[in-house]
Amino acid sequence: MRSAKIRLYVDQPLGEGQSVLLGRDQAHYLFGVMRLSAGDPVLLFNGSAGEWRATVAEAGKRQAVLTVDTQTNAQQNPPDLWLLFAPIKKARTDFIVEKATEMGAARILPVQTEFTNSERIRQDRLQAHAVEAAEQCGGTFVPDVADLQKLGTVLGQWPEDRRILFCDEALAGPASALPELKGTGAAAGEPWAIVIGPEGGFSDAERQHLNQLPQSYAISLGPRILRADTAAVAALALWQQALGDWR
Ligand code: SAH
Repeated sequence: MRSAKIRLYVDQPLGEGQSVLLGRDQAHYLFGVMRLSAGDPVLLFNGSAGEWRATVAEAGKRQAVLTVDTQTNAQQNPPDLWLLFAPIKKARTDFIVEKATEMGAARILPVQTEFTNSERIRQDRLQAHAVEAAEQCGGTFVPDVADLQKLGTVLGQWPEDRRILFCDEALAGPASALPELKGTGAAAGEPWAIVIGPEGGFSDAERQHLNQLPQSYAISLGPRILRADTAAVAALALWQQALGDWR
């Protein structure tokens, strides 16, 4: 049996013997780009049913039919971690969504802050980046990318039980406070969110709002000021290592 190298996300049920119909884009990718043909294996996941091996039953230009064979991996969900970030330039925003998916964020929320550079996002494009990143990194979960919302609105209806790791550039200094969080009763398995600001940083009012929330812990990400995309990856790594699924 040939091993399957191509992984595809499909928005369809997966189970033994199930037929999966692919549309034009995925058919083009499999047969036009990757040169697969009938009988070739592909790995499929749908975000909730693990990973399955499937075989190309019908290869067409406009559509294709795959037959699902056996499960190759169980479903693996990331910890209950959200990433809030203020969208920056397009390529860097794409990067943040891609990296957050690889690093194991469960939900990605673009937020508009006072100094946010960009007023608009293409939610569908960002969601497609999350799908691609999941296909590429071997994950079986695709984080939901929310529409752009005002930071104040999101914080105004903040869930009581979700702690916030507030990455505050005003605290830039030698030590990250993350290890100390272990002494505050924060335990693995609890809902969390990381908050990263825009290139212009947080306004005083936003800093105050975040600091007054009882769920919020402000931390430094070291002595240098990081760009927002770097800060997002660094914070995700710190959190995953201290409280998430890297431990
Ligand atoms: N223009 C701001 C920097 C913004 S950096 C200034 O010069 O002060 C973009 C975001 O990355 C920040 O809002 C913060 O969330 C995060 N960040 C960058 N470096 C950081 C650090 N050393 N500690 C904590 N957060 C940091």
